[in-house]
Amino acid sequence: MVAKPVKLETRLIHAGEAEPRILGAGVPPIFRSTVWEHVPGAGYHDILYPRLSNLPNHVVLGDKLAALEGGESGLVTSSGMSAISACLLSLLDAGDHALVQDCLYGGTQGLFTRDLAPLGIEFDFVDANDPVSWQERLRPNTRVFYAEAITNPLLEIADHEGIVAFAKKNGLQAVIDSTFASPVNARPLEWGYDLVVHSGTKYLNGHSDVVAGSIVGRSESVEAAKRKLDHFGGALDPQAAYLLHRGLKTLALRVGQQNRSAQAIAEFLSEHPRVETVRYPGLSSHPQHERARHLFDGFGGMLSFELMGDRDSAPRLIDRLELALPSASLGGVETLITQPANTSHAGLSLEERARAGIAEGLIRFSTGIEAAEDLIGDLERALA
Ligand code: PLP
Repeated sequence: MVAKPVKLETRLIHAGEAEPRILGAGVPPIFRSTVWEHVPGAGYHDILYPRLSNLPNHVVLGDKLAALEGGESGLVTSSGMSAISACLLSLLDAGDHALVQDCLYGGTQGLFTRDLAPLGIEFDFVDANDPVSWQERLRPNTRVFYAEAITNPLLEIADHEGIVAFAKKNGLQAVIDSTFASPVNARPLEWGYDLVVHSGTKYLNGHSDVVAGSIVGRSESVEAAKRKLDHFGGALDPQAAYLLHRGLKTLALRVGQQNRSAQAIAEFLSEHPRVETVRYPGLSSHPQHERARHLFDGFGGMLSFELMGDRDSAPRLIDRLELALPSASLGGVETLITQPANTSHAGLSLEERARAGIAEGLIRFSTGIEAAEDLIGDLERALA
């Protein structure tokens, strides 16, 4: 662990690394073994076993992520969804209730509606920018407020300071999915959230070749989530941990470039006559631009926009782009583009999408690390 508080770029490289380094290796070796010799006198909690997320590959990453987020303790998991489910199952029992931001990532929304509800866990979806609705839905059995740092695909920024204050006042645990922001742009524990989760599949790894997740917060909370993770079997494979560790080191470089390029692309699109609307927190036209400036260190690599014309304009544009890869994922080094109505939000009915404000022709753009001028040139050609 790095002793002095140092900048995030430095923490990405040095924080959490094993001390002493394993056989002096600069990069932790991949521990593939599932059998570990039992040392006489060792207790149950000393047993090393990959499913218990306690191999050096897990520990280094957990400690590094804790240092990046400014949390006491960190844990890596097999996916973003395993991080989210372990977290929620550690905080909510049958009969408990949660306030949940509407317009969440579809998998998380499905977890609440299809998996937690049958277990007797109650919830209400709320507008995370409408504190009056939180108060109205608050119950004596409410335990959790769950939100996302930036919503998908509309890039809304919740009233995070309001959520944290409301959670503290009412004794709730405030949990946030900060995948879209990454620790480079936002560290929600600093705002007062209790637990932060990520899909490490996106920005943290950044190279579109690993599925992973993370949980960071106070040690006792992370330990409680780990007990769920251990039993439900959500440990990260050591090979994947190695790749995540490797990808993480360039997070600040990647996200810095993505922030700059996304801003340039958003500005280009917002001035283009064939573009009707652009949503990007870095634009002064974004409804929560001032909040984003106050809370975030960067506005991120994600943006969404609508074209003039009908919903078929979107697939035509996507088809004509040469650099942006049509894919529903995000946060990679390569630029990715998708039409949420056909991919990430296809599971919602037309009415549900309309209610959520997701236009049929909306396009979501995950900016990669290619040169911004090339990405803009590609968009310019395709729009023409
Ligand atoms: N959270 C957000 C905001 C996501 O976009 C995703 C996946 O797209 C997840 C969580 C789930 O992550 P994973 O696919 O790693 O389980």
